[in-house]
Amino acid sequence: MTPAAYVHLDLDAVRHNLAQVKRYAPNNKIMAVIKANAYGHGITRVARALDQADGFAVARVDEGVKLRKAGIGQAITVLQGFVCTDELLLMLEHGLDAVIHTPQQIDILQQRGADVAALSVWLKMDTGMNRLGFKGVDFNAAHERLSACAIVKQPINLITHFANADDLLDDKTLHQIDLFNETIQGYPGQRSIANSAGILGWPNVSIATRESAGDWVRPGLMLYGCSPFAGKTGADFGLRPVMSLHSRLIAVKNVAAGETVGYSGTWQCQTDTRLGVISIGYGDGYHRHTQSGAPVLVNGQRVPLIGRVSMDMITVDLNSQPNAQPGDPVTLWGDGLPVEEIARHADTIPYTLLCGITQRVRIVEA
Ligand code: PLP
Repeated sequence: MTPAAYVHLDLDAVRHNLAQVKRYAPNNKIMAVIKANAYGHGITRVARALDQADGFAVARVDEGVKLRKAGIGQAITVLQGFVCTDELLLMLEHGLDAVIHTPQQIDILQQRGADVAALSVWLKMDTGMNRLGFKGVDFNAAHERLSACAIVKQPINLITHFANADDLLDDKTLHQIDLFNETIQGYPGQRSIANSAGILGWPNVSIATRESAGDWVRPGLMLYGCSPFAGKTGADFGLRPVMSLHSRLIAVKNVAAGETVGYSGTWQCQTDTRLGVISIGYGDGYHRHTQSGAPVLVNGQRVPLIGRVSMDMITVDLNSQPNAQPGDPVTLWGDGLPVEEIARHADTIPYTLLCGITQRVRIVEA
């Protein structure tokens, strides 16, 4: 019997994708980004599968603590750092590295004092994202203050984040790289710039000539087999999808031409329609805004979604599959149906779909 909604995770694919990162960035260390439950794939499972990564990045302290409690030994960088002394103490207790992006964090470090330099830090420069980090002279001042903090291991590492690297025609990325390199000239410490789009799309500028051997790249999405660029899929870059989402048909019926389907009657049948009902919905993480016409694989064949996505069900047009029956297998993405394509039909990005899988969906690993 085909089970109700489940996710299949191909952990060989995650290892293959890490090997691809190494091919694109052969001279760099790899900080695998596994925040947000490893983009919905399971933070501990992915960290264990990626034992060849040099380190990990998470967003929040509790994600790092979870990894340490699971026995993960590599460097773990907390991209949001800490906001209070209690969080700093947790980071020290669990040996987590902090991104420093506000003057208040440096105040906390100064107030602590220390006998030993116990905390590795990445000082964050805001090169145009206008989210976290210091700009211009504030960056230099923060560097000077941090250099004088007894608790901080020296040298201070240096990090920035691309805002538009997924747009290969936007030269903002070049400006960000130039600004970063100009500002940190003469500073010792390791550096980190490139996310997946930086690694895949800007190899000559962000890696080969600018990020020198030993500096760190920070891939997230590409580890999960997806492309950060609109109109491309992970396969275009030799990546393999890690997650596939599956379910089954639970009902098949005939609907007369002219009738509408689902909430608000957004779909009207143009012909007599053999309609399939599938046990998956936004309560599982299948995006509610996925539009009629989005492809769904029933028995391995593409059929179009019709009508609104409900909490537990979607409906498809089965006119091309007269023999389909309740119980038949369905694939919503992965296994020949790129999640990037489904994201386009939902007017969103693959990140949202991967992160959005909910608790009730069963996970099957391989
Ligand atoms: N670095 C930082 C600071 C991030 O916030 C993220 C993800 O949002 C990444 C790296 C990884 O980005 P991507 O998943 O696009 O590779």
